Amino acid sequence: MSDISSLKTQVQTEADKILPELIKIKNKIGNNPELGSEEEKSSRLLVELLRKNGFEVEYPFSDMHTAFKGVIKGKTSGPIIAILAEYDALPGVGHGCGHNIIGTSGVGAGIALKKIIDELQGEVWVIGTPAEEGHGPYAGAKIQMALKGVFDEVDVSYMVHPTGNLTTVMGNFLAVSGVRLEFKGKTAHAAADAHNGQNALNAAMVTYMAIHANRQQLRRDANAVVHGIITEGGLASNIIPDRAVLSFGVRSSDDTYVPELVDMVVNSAKGAALATGCTVEITTRTGLKSNLQNKGLEKLFQNIFDELCHPYKPLEEAAVIPPGGSTDFSDITHIVPGIHPLIGLGVENIAGHSTALAEATLTPKGDKALEIGVKTMAMATVELLKKPELLREIQKEFEAKRLD
Ligand SMILES: [Zn+2]
Ligand SMILES: [Zn+2]
Repeated sequence: MSDISSLKTQVQTEADKILPELIKIKNKIGNNPELGSEEEKSSRLLVELLRKNGFEVEYPFSDMHTAFKGVIKGKTSGPIIAILAEYDALPGVGHGCGHNIIGTSGVGAGIALKKIIDELQGEVWVIGTPAEEGHGPYAGAKIQMALKGVFDEVDVSYMVHPTGNLTTVMGNFLAVSGVRLEFKGKTAHAAADAHNGQNALNAAMVTYMAIHANRQQLRRDANAVVHGIITEGGLASNIIPDRAVLSFGVRSSDDTYVPELVDMVVNSAKGAALATGCTVEITTRTGLKSNLQNKGLEKLFQNIFDELCHPYKPLEEAAVIPPGGSTDFSDITHIVPGIHPLIGLGVENIAGHSTALAEATLTPKGDKALEIGVKTMAMATVELLKKPELLREIQKEFEAKRLD
């Protein structure tokens, strides 16, 4: 036990040593946001840091030029812990989701563990997973990797994500699917020949309102969310638009409810097409699952937050907060036991996906969240690789839930 305590102290010391460099890279990535599938500079910075600290790094990895996999091996073979790193930004709000903290936390945890890896049995992988926000061909990169077998040998996987105020030990996420609706009508002079036109924008508006009309009837117990935008709605006000495009996301904490929500959106569009004399082309994209919880991992991370005197939301309070967003990490929690804590930046009333959050990641509060992320994941890895019985318990719970 004292061995484990001293190793945990050592990884904290190593984390403190590397922290100034990690902060610099976090801020550099934060100030140079790159959209998903285009994270060339961000991924290179993280890969260079891993290599400089003795990691074997495969880059590009898994047929994605901004993905990487860094590996360190213990004194003998044993369990594999995969720490995931994200570093993609959002259009308009830069690092408004704080992935500059995620990437540097994952890489930092790996580097802190490198110094003591000879004392451990097993392997630590740091996997750079692009395009979590769904932009470009690498959208759902973790799922693409899983399909190629990247997680086949992995025993446990985790990552951390920044959030507004207080830390949540186990982040929970909604299943999500996407629906794209492309209406086609007929152009005509908007005044003189309007009767000869078929107005695709009107079809889009009727769709939007039909979806609104259904909101009251959505299942509240399933945390249903339907959100969308009109991406195309005509070229000039004096032309009846012959083309309009909508993009919708439907989410729920009940994976089986998502197809029903997709049907509701699709039927709203079909009804609108009929009403306006337009045609509609519908593309549905099966997206992400909701996450599988693991109480064993939750307990492990909670204990480490206690050890670090890092405050978090009381578990009973966190348990009744409906899940907010979605992530491709949820799919990984159906393949191996996984946890995705949300590390509080200690800033009240800050919205996710906002420029305010992007700015907060660059402050001393952002530095602190990074430090906590690095230390927590490094210490959890020590425990998991030093306590085979703990790992077995976590895996047993995972198998039982997966069979449910
Ligand atoms: Zn996000
Ligand atoms: Zn995010």
